[in-house]
Amino acid sequence: MTLAARTVHGFHTLLTGLGVTFKQIFKRNVTLQYPHEKPELSKAYRSLIKLKRFDELDSHDCVACMQCVKICPSACITIEGGKVDGIKRKRATLFEVDFALCSVCGLCIDVCPTDTLEYSRLYDEAGYERAWTYDLLAEFREEEPAFRERQRVQEEQEAAEKEAKRLAAEQAKAAKEAQASKPPDAPEGTT
Ligand code: SF4
Ligand code: SF4
Repeated sequence: MTLAARTVHGFHTLLTGLGVTFKQIFKRNVTLQYPHEKPELSKAYRSLIKLKRFDELDSHDCVACMQCVKICPSACITIEGGKVDGIKRKRATLFEVDFALCSVCGLCIDVCPTDTLEYSRLYDEAGYERAWTYDLLAEFREEEPAFRERQRVQEEQEAAEKEAKRLAAEQAKAAKEAQASKPPDAPEGTT
């Protein structure tokens, strides 16, 4: 390659490099100064599972049915619970997940009959030990006595309403039967 050709080639590669640099100036940043800047997560982003809080309960609705435990391919969920004193609704009393084993497959979410499991939007969690166990009930534990009292009152009201409806139906049925067994009125002019 002659000196002139090398010069032209060098100039061309220089311009190409400058063009690439220039284009990047107008592109959106893809790196962040984490942790000073937080990423904007897409709507589809999903992370470790968590217990959903329902507005109508102001709590989770895990009834300790164990469906998620049975289906979990990583065997990383531990749950205890069931019937608790004073209310009919069953409750989980222990809910731990070892996230060192969880593959975020979502099978537990799919199978949950009360829809109380969902993906969280955590993005900066890290485990520093072989077992990385989270207590999913932690945020609900202090509120649990208040939840059970609300539930007890609600169940009592529902039972009272059900009983009132049953009595009303019984009375209506008795009145109908009494009406049906009454002899028909005698026609006018007969004795
Ligand atoms: S997301 Fe998958 S691996 Fe993780 S706890 Fe649920 S079922 Fe198990
Ligand atoms: S499947 Fe749902 S309700 Fe059943 S134990 Fe798991 S989280 Fe609780």
